[in-house]
Amino acid sequence: MSRAKLEKLGLTLPLLPTSTVGSFPKPDYLLQARARFARKEITQKELEVLEKRATEFWVQQQEEIGLDVLVDGEQYRGDMVAYFADVMPGFRMGGLVRSYGNRYYHKPIIVGEIRWPGPMTVKWWRFAQGLTSKPIKGMLTGPYTIMDWSFNDYYPDRKSACLALARVIRKEVEALVEAGAKVIQIDEPALSVRPEELPFAIEAMQMVTDGVPAYFITHICYGAFEFIYPRMLRFPVHNFDLEMSNSGLDLIGLFKKHPFNKDLSFGVLDVHSHKIESSALVKERIEKALQVIPKEALWVDPDCGLKTRTVEEAQGKLRSMVAAVKEIRQALDKAPKRKRRRIEVGSVVKKRRKKIRKHKYKKMRRRMRHKKK
Ligand SMILES: [Zn+2]
Repeated sequence: MSRAKLEKLGLTLPLLPTSTVGSFPKPDYLLQARARFARKEITQKELEVLEKRATEFWVQQQEEIGLDVLVDGEQYRGDMVAYFADVMPGFRMGGLVRSYGNRYYHKPIIVGEIRWPGPMTVKWWRFAQGLTSKPIKGMLTGPYTIMDWSFNDYYPDRKSACLALARVIRKEVEALVEAGAKVIQIDEPALSVRPEELPFAIEAMQMVTDGVPAYFITHICYGAFEFIYPRMLRFPVHNFDLEMSNSGLDLIGLFKKHPFNKDLSFGVLDVHSHKIESSALVKERIEKALQVIPKEALWVDPDCGLKTRTVEEAQGKLRSMVAAVKEIRQALDKAPKRKRRRIEVGSVVKKRRKKIRKHKYKKMRRRMRHKKK
């Protein structure tokens, strides 16, 4: 549990902090503008004006809906890997490949040494943070996923490509922290693809997060967790953000067998369904999570990014989520408090020391008495 870490960073969040995974749907005017930009009918600057307008819209929406930890909504991004590969020296864009269903993306190719081109996301983080007093998450794609979703024509193996990317993402993390970001999410949806590679995926994330004063979240979705759990608990982040609802909350069974020991952002909204979940259904899902995760360690969010939903669906789903969380917070507040529930670590330590001292003193006196005899 990392409440202490958050407080150390100056972040006071309510119980069951609400957030989102990162992307929001792009309004129609922005979709049209992106298509026109691709046809070279408008300039980058003209496109950016609309991206900013859409970012403002989503920050304001998140505030109005009542979320606790916000995102910039990724109105300026297309694919989560291509966005980074596009600007990093060492990559070339490849042809279209199919990701899932009817979605295609340009698979990047590593053709040279990967280098950091300077801040890739900081400008947008600053812009969004300037619009709200709530914390905005820094949003990055992890080294393992960028490596896995690219062709490698340069590094001798997958591990060295992954570690080279880790060095670059580390620099981006440092730039975000310098700008003021306190919560940074690094997405690794590919993490469970090849369980035998988990050790170097962990090593890479260690290089990214080690010693950095921030609260780290990793989002993973639609993976075969049973192959990497509980080993994945060694991943050096504070919070795992997992898709739970689309898979019928299967993971809860795994957590019962082997306790989950980090903070958990529990996906309560199925982003592949048009249907807006009722707040009663969301409440039920959160209650199930509370059976296996202590309330201090639980965050609540959708399964994945909401970019595939319509604007109205995304708003509706998030409203249900916030309503459910509010009800559960009230119930938790009213729940009878057990005696001596608020144990402060400091006082426990002090008491224990006192006990030890007392014990030693008794022993000493006993020994002295013995000697006198
Ligand atoms: Zn996802």
